[in-house]
Amino acid sequence: MSPASVIFLVVLLGASGLFARQVGKIRRNIGLGRPLDRTDRRAERWKVMARVALGQGKMVARPVAGVMHILIYVGFVVINIEVLEIVIDGVLGTHRVFSFLGPLYDVLIGGFEILAVGVLLACVVFLARRNVLRLKRFWSKEMTVWPRSDANIILIAEIILMGAFLKMNAADQVLAARGHAHYTLAGSYPVSTLLRPFFEGMSDATVYGLERAFWWVHIVGILAFLNYLPISKHFHIILAFPNTWYSKLTPRTQVRNMPRVTEEVKLMLDPNADPYAAPAEGQVEPERFGARDVFDLTWKSLMDAYSCTECGRCTSECPANITGKLLSPRKIMMDTRDRLEEVGRNIDRHGSFQDDGKSLHDRISEEELWACTTCNACTQACPVNIDPVDIIMEMRRYLVMEESRTRPALTSMFNNVENNGAPWAFGPDKRLQWMEEQ
Ligand code: SF4
Ligand code: SF4
Repeated sequence: MSPASVIFLVVLLGASGLFARQVGKIRRNIGLGRPLDRTDRRAERWKVMARVALGQGKMVARPVAGVMHILIYVGFVVINIEVLEIVIDGVLGTHRVFSFLGPLYDVLIGGFEILAVGVLLACVVFLARRNVLRLKRFWSKEMTVWPRSDANIILIAEIILMGAFLKMNAADQVLAARGHAHYTLAGSYPVSTLLRPFFEGMSDATVYGLERAFWWVHIVGILAFLNYLPISKHFHIILAFPNTWYSKLTPRTQVRNMPRVTEEVKLMLDPNADPYAAPAEGQVEPERFGARDVFDLTWKSLMDAYSCTECGRCTSECPANITGKLLSPRKIMMDTRDRLEEVGRNIDRHGSFQDDGKSLHDRISEEELWACTTCNACTQACPVNIDPVDIIMEMRRYLVMEESRTRPALTSMFNNVENNGAPWAFGPDKRLQWMEEQ
């Protein structure tokens, strides 16, 4: 094995190991959530995943951004098929190992190049939308320096990767045309052929050095990109698939029941029930009602937090946000992820979670939580079927049921439910009075 192949193998194994470690931590963090069964209606789940994640079905609701996102997505996925060849070449010391495919290889390389140009253009447009046109949803309050930089870093990285790919191909053609050892005359290069004049006047050694440099930039860039994903919002590239598979399939506005409360109500309505009886077998006593911290949310809400692309479509459709309230469903997801990451670092440091005296409520205020109308415009708009409302509802439940904290407007309704068994200020004996008054 050549020294270059050994170096390549070390880089490849190191980057893959690091990526696996990071994914393992995310998996562990998601597993900190409460259990939730989302394995029913499997056929429907596959369809939702195919339509929303694979087919990007909800992205095209905004056609310009949607079409360009699809271009980047398809281009990036398809072009990375070429990574397979690069990896084999890197390990075995071969060059363009798939060139034996002949005309099919020509079509593949030609297709990759055309897609690479599409990706480049889309990235430039996206950068302009964010930094020159400064679209409002990319500059709202929660889009602080890091979220804005995160988006820019990934777009610039894709431009560098695609640029290295095209320049590598151009240098490759020059070397192949000169009959340089190992450089096979294979592939069609509809785009990079335009860059050939740049290399024509150079010596063989210079062109070879540049071709190798672009090759290494391309593959090391992809491995670096892979390891950047888990610390970035771009992890949605991977999580969009499981996240849509585990989508909520019941009607959007259907609120998840609290089994413990249901049990309590049944007990109250059953004259023969023993209120002091031990819980039935399999019935788990919750430690608390609602969510104080990320541990009290379901694992699906935690997966949602890692799947959020920070696109802001939810916030731009949120009536509370539009009318000037503090609430932003995107911020709810970003805060949940930030808190979950904080908890994860705590576990890394101590081996298990040590109480840090903090909670999710330190990041998400009561004002934000109570601004939500539960209209579900956010869940409808989200391109990866994230459900910020579930987190909002659980956090509200905690405030009301554990802390007895609510909005003044709701206090009388709660009192009426407690005293009259209904939200209205009339006792059960007065319920039919309205008929007498007619
Ligand atoms: S459900 Fe709440 S957070 Fe979502 S759009 Fe409606 S008001 Fe906004
Ligand atoms: S929750 Fe969905 S719509 Fe909102 S920012 Fe995240 S990915 Fe975008």
